[in-house]
Amino acid sequence: MAFRRRSSNRAVDPGLNPNRTADLYQRTSEGYIIAHDIASQYEYAQEQACVHCGSRLTVIAQINRSFQGLNELVTACPNCGKNTSFIFDISNEVYQSWLAERLGDLYVRNYDGSPRQPHRGHQNRT
Ligand SMILES: [Zn+2]
Repeated sequence: MAFRRRSSNRAVDPGLNPNRTADLYQRTSEGYIIAHDIASQYEYAQEQACVHCGSRLTVIAQINRSFQGLNELVTACPNCGKNTSFIFDISNEVYQSWLAERLGDLYVRNYDGSPRQPHRGHQNRT
């Protein structure tokens, strides 16, 4: 039985969008974290420290909420076992055009709302 080999072109990571912008990891006004590809979501979650003990978190589940223009990653702390969820915005144009390019004819936009924008609110008042 023959398996088709995946492309071995290491310069092109299929999980990574080469067109990321400065909006990456900004918050939308709803508080979602702006993601530009799949890799960025894992990078973000794995760089966060557990609020209970300070250990680095491990991603244990991904919840597909693309009908809401969202993707959720659930992490567990390897030290204390507490779970933390991160909810990413994937409705933005950078993510959607990257996804459309990857999926080609299989691409379906299953979120009806308009793309969310980064929150450009005022700075903290002092
Ligand atoms: Zn912990």
